[in-house]
Amino acid sequence: MHLKSLTVKGFKSFASSTTLRLEPGVTCVVGPNGSGKSNVVDAISWVLGEQGAKALRGGKMEDVIFAGTSGRAPLGRAEVTLTIDNSDNALPIDYTEVSVTRRMYRSGESEYEINGDRCRLIDIQELMSDSGIGREMHVIVGQGQLDSVLQARPEDRRGFIEEAAGVLKHRKRKEKALRK
Ligand code: ATP
Ligand code: MG
Repeated sequence: MHLKSLTVKGFKSFASSTTLRLEPGVTCVVGPNGSGKSNVVDAISWVLGEQGAKALRGGKMEDVIFAGTSGRAPLGRAEVTLTIDNSDNALPIDYTEVSVTRRMYRSGESEYEINGDRCRLIDIQELMSDSGIGREMHVIVGQGQLDSVLQARPEDRRGFIEEAAGVLKHRKRKEKALRK
């Protein structure tokens, strides 16, 4: 499984529809300060259902919608589509390619789609839950977060790694079983 492409439209600094194609392996996004590199990562968290404005570096959820610039009027909605290559069936769905879309209006209402069909947020969360890219996972290391990982106590750092690797839930289950 790998991320294949990301299309952002009206999301943060991306007013016009913009598609980033991602290949297997490492992708680097380079650009000057304030050019929108972190906004790309925010778009990935957001489309997977992130509900916290702070996690998206904003004050309120509406802040993800393109707010306008001196030469361009604000937009009324943000839309992001993340396409995932699922040819190894890592996601429990019968498609070799899975597209997840989130759309949000200024009213605050969000719409979600899996392969173009309307769905609920929980459907997306369940689809991603065992993939290692779901929300509340330490898979996305934000700017500045790296320091806290490097400076963490060894046992805390182990916790981060276990969570990213998907072992934490098994450890918790084991601890619960042993307590009984
Ligand atoms: P750095 O190298 O400093 O980390 P960066 O490339 O990660 O920079 P981002 O934080 O992704 O930059 O982008 C910040 C830019 O996005 C700012 O110019 C900000 O004005 C713009 N921006 C954020 N939200 C919106 C929005 N809702 N509408 C329009 N522009 C926005
Ligand atoms: Mg940044």
